Amino acid sequence: MPKHTSSSLDPRSPLVLDTRELPRRPGALRTVDRVVPAPADLGVELIGVPEGADLTLDLRMESVSEGVLVSGTVSGPVRGECGRCLREINDTVAVTVQELYAYENSTTDVTTEEDEVGRLQGDLIDLEPAVRDAVVLTLPTNPICRQDCPGLCPECGVHRDELPVDHSHQQIDPRWAGLSQLNREEE
Ligand SMILES: [Zn+2]
Ligand SMILES: [Zn+2]
Repeated sequence: MPKHTSSSLDPRSPLVLDTRELPRRPGALRTVDRVVPAPADLGVELIGVPEGADLTLDLRMESVSEGVLVSGTVSGPVRGECGRCLREINDTVAVTVQELYAYENSTTDVTTEEDEVGRLQGDLIDLEPAVRDAVVLTLPTNPICRQDCPGLCPECGVHRDELPVDHSHQQIDPRWAGLSQLNREEE
């Protein structure tokens, strides 16, 4: 069975890198500085890069004997929800990417397992899986709006920031309890 399906990558796709301009001579370098729209589902359940948001690629492609080494940073805005108080979180994320994409039929390609290293597909590199992995690993699974977010009162659902320090839903103050008793007796 052939190891590769023929290239189905779209060279115009935002996270596909075209290496045609990069000489296949070890040491040759090309930089990739561009802003692309973020793909869908770039993140985790409670926080992620909104689809279509500006993703900044600051990368370099370097020819090595077995393929192309892509390294650099990918950054963009993230939006999410605080796991404690449900307030919106607006932040940024920057991840480091360093990934080797082996040439088709290179020794690395032939001798490594399918998912051990990336593969060039023709002249194209699909950067999306590496970016997605890096972003998902970096984002918190339990995002919070700030370190000391006190969360919501479990009884009334009001943010504790907006409640007095001694806010509680314990039994009515005994003095008031006495009053309500009186009221009842009057009826
Ligand atoms: Zn919060
Ligand atoms: Zn409350």
